[in-house]
Amino acid sequence: MLRWGLIGASRIASSYMIEAMRAQEGADVLSVLSTDVARGARFADENGIADSYTDLDALLADDRVNAVYISTTNEKHHAQALAAIAASKNVLCEKPLAMSLADACEMVKAAADKGITFATNHHLRNAGTHLAIKDLISNGRIGDVLSARVFHAVNLPEHLRGWRINDASAGGGVIPDITVHDADTIRFHLDEDPVDVVAKSGTSGMGEGVEDSVMSVWSMPSGAMVQTHESFTHGFAGTGIEFHGTRGSIFAQGVMTQEPVGTIRLVDSNGETAVSYENHNLYKRSLGVFTQAVAGTGRPSADGVDGIKSLAVALAVREAARSGRQTTVDYGGF
Ligand code: NDP
Repeated sequence: MLRWGLIGASRIASSYMIEAMRAQEGADVLSVLSTDVARGARFADENGIADSYTDLDALLADDRVNAVYISTTNEKHHAQALAAIAASKNVLCEKPLAMSLADACEMVKAAADKGITFATNHHLRNAGTHLAIKDLISNGRIGDVLSARVFHAVNLPEHLRGWRINDASAGGGVIPDITVHDADTIRFHLDEDPVDVVAKSGTSGMGEGVEDSVMSVWSMPSGAMVQTHESFTHGFAGTGIEFHGTRGSIFAQGVMTQEPVGTIRLVDSNGETAVSYENHNLYKRSLGVFTQAVAGTGRPSADGVDGIKSLAVALAVREAARSGRQTTVDYGGF
């Protein structure tokens, strides 16, 4: 059973992950790390956690802790993950895994060498909606996939308008924040990795020194084309994903989200069908699969290599937008 140490007194931990950890039978959350003594103590108190630390080595020295969840700002993931791996803790790391491809690869290789379980917290793979969409595609219900479109332009809530919109050094910007999720979701559905991308990014009212909007087009090895739109500034656009194939199309609305909601329609020669799905909590499912993987059954929903690849696509999108050129995705040999 997993006894967690939380690396980072973050909002995602308090709003989703602690509850999901505790939902696993026998699991416990023992400690939290914060750079700020008072914030760490308050976070521990508010979330019923016994210990708070400001020293990572002290948290890792607790032999009862056998898994850590890293949800600090993005520039810290690399060093914290390497320290946790060296201490033989299983690691669930937030996306993007790191600021650079080389750092992400180093983390994943270190975890493999140590023989611990390492996962990336891409929650969308765990959504009942996305599992149903993947079933439709893999069962051939739309034939060969010709194209996909991802609509992930949202209104970044006021309380998240900190480092995400003004701090490039902490990993801010919509590309590391949302494009990584879309890259993982497309890879999940199509079972293939984008080859190259073109992109445009910009600011549309929120980004200060980082992009708050981006559009990109990706080529897949099968020949399928993927179009994506991510933004922090779109209050009324709604989210969605579409797959268009030789025998049908899938239209999913409101599904690029943390909640188990949305609608899916399958349109083919028989007309239009509403597709049902299981509406379980995404993060609880992810934690359940991770817990089983640590126990030796199966693999995490999104493992370390998935985290490397989603980051690789996001980095290519950023480079394509910066250079104005088509950019080949570098997966660092993975
Ligand atoms: P937060 O901004 O809530 O927390 C990040 C860090 O900011 C914390 O580690 C904390 O540092 C510091 N911090 C928190 N509150 C304050 C405060 N009031 N004043 C000053 N500093 C503060 O981050 P998020 O939860 O939004 O994101 C954390 C990570 O999780 C990111 O990597 C992000 O990409 C990812 N994420 C993933 C999601 C998913 O669904 N997979 C969803 C949301 C985020 P300290 O620990 O030192 O106290």
